[in-house]
Amino acid sequence: MLDLRPNCEYCGRDLPADSADARICSYECTFCADCVEKHLKNVCPNCGGGFVARPIRPGREWRPGVSRTHQKPSEKRVHLKKDKAEINVFVAKVSGVPARER
Ligand SMILES: [Zn+2]
Ligand SMILES: [Zn+2]
Repeated sequence: MLDLRPNCEYCGRDLPADSADARICSYECTFCADCVEKHLKNVCPNCGGGFVARPIRPGREWRPGVSRTHQKPSEKRVHLKKDKAEINVFVAKVSGVPARER
């Protein structure tokens, strides 16, 4: 199941489960739309992959036992594993390759 992480790894801002601004890579690394655009240029600093908008898990129980009340978002905040200078170099290298060809 998708891990709905509570914050942007880059700037630390909150990204609640109903946020339209959350972006994820295929490993569920989670960033805000601003950081993906301005700082990361659609390059995940952890894996090099691209991002998509994180889907919003329903807040209401439309089907029995299925909602974000039943399958709760993560409360574990995640932080960058590399410093921002290293990430800048990485992003400059990888962003020249289209996400589908990485
Ligand atoms: Zn951010
Ligand atoms: Zn990633």
